[in-house]
Amino acid sequence: MGGGVRDLLLGREPKDFDIATDARPEQIYKLFRNCRLIGRRFRLAHVQFGAEIIEVATFRGHGDDNEDGDGSTVERAADGRILSDNVYGGIEDDAWRRDFTINALYYDIANFAVLDYVGGLADLKAGLIRLIGDPVERYHEDPVRLLRAVRFAAKLGLRIDPATEAPLHRLGHLLEKIPSARLFDEILKLFLGGSALQTFELLRHYRLFGCLFPATERCLNRQQQHYPKTLLMRALAGTDARLAEGKPVAPAFLFAALLWEPLVEQMRQLQMDGQNEYEALQIAADAVVETQIRCTALPRRYSLPMQEIWEMQQRLTVIIGKRPLRLLTHPRFRAGYDFLLLRAETDEPAAQLAEWWTRFMAMDEKGRLQAVLPTPKAKKGKPRRRRKSRAAGQSDAASPPPSET
Ligand code: ATP
Ligand code: MG
Repeated sequence: MGGGVRDLLLGREPKDFDIATDARPEQIYKLFRNCRLIGRRFRLAHVQFGAEIIEVATFRGHGDDNEDGDGSTVERAADGRILSDNVYGGIEDDAWRRDFTINALYYDIANFAVLDYVGGLADLKAGLIRLIGDPVERYHEDPVRLLRAVRFAAKLGLRIDPATEAPLHRLGHLLEKIPSARLFDEILKLFLGGSALQTFELLRHYRLFGCLFPATERCLNRQQQHYPKTLLMRALAGTDARLAEGKPVAPAFLFAALLWEPLVEQMRQLQMDGQNEYEALQIAADAVVETQIRCTALPRRYSLPMQEIWEMQQRLTVIIGKRPLRLLTHPRFRAGYDFLLLRAETDEPAAQLAEWWTRFMAMDEKGRLQAVLPTPKAKKGKPRRRRKSRAAGQSDAASPPPSET
């Protein structure tokens, strides 16, 4: 059911198949050896088949007269948000509780029929994303549906039905209620689904992007008149291109681009206030991460490599002595270099530096030793201070470019 049936009918290769059944989670658990029950808010069974995990959901009811007759209801917050949805029912009730009509189609393996209780087939044919029921109410029940509407519209190239579309512009604030970890998961789906650029543009159009990345949104609003083509948009287009070629994408790289503008802006301010470039980067990076995690989670396994990619922008400017040779073996070198290439498109000093590195990487060991600038003679006995020994004339490129976007 769900995405799998929808994608097949659209002639796309489904990412996975979700299974829906009238069996209760505990019954599924007893039936399969490799089964785990997950989720409190929405209880599900994960059944492992070889390398794959199949998600199995029990049909949900509406909670007014639930089948168990045990008085359990769908638990709601005062604002209508569903806190727990573990009231079971029949397949038709289940269909009505799904988000969009095109996501509520079932493929019945008993008779190979597609079951459609909510007009999903007609909407699929018309290319429409339509929430089942009253859109405003359904968004209040679960505000993540705002993001899901945009995600499916961008990824599947469908239009959002006017009644489903209208509230998008004004309900973004509901996302504040969503646990930051769930928002983070949704962000990964939004930008790693192969249509990141289109998704980004729709999110901005519906004023939802600022609910996820408030600092970036502020920068974009200030800059928009002058530079409509931002580094971020090129990064997103690059992400889509890589995914289309089947290449891997590092979320840290994506976040480095998503939060680059706020970083540059804060660094510039700190440097004007007298901090050196190295300290400015450290302070600004910490501040940007802190602002972001107030909104969405950003696990350290992503934020640390992201900060390394930013730091690499400074380290790449040091092209004297043995340092460039050593830098080549740094685990974050490639990501840092790729990020430099991204900056190079609109930033002249970064472009020159990128060219230097591209040439340097193509050389053999001997050529590389000749290519680097000689180490300036240091006074004997005095310990060398790392960040002061920077090549003269390159220090401009070390600071993120004021010209960028
Ligand atoms: P994808 O291709 O991204 O997996 P999907 O439609 O399968 O798309 P899932 O998140 O895997 O999306 O969810 C499976 C199904 O569960 C959906 O098709 C939908 O019917 C239902 N569903 C998921 N999230 C919600 C939600 N927030 N509210 C209502 N129904 C939902
Ligand atoms: Mg799915």
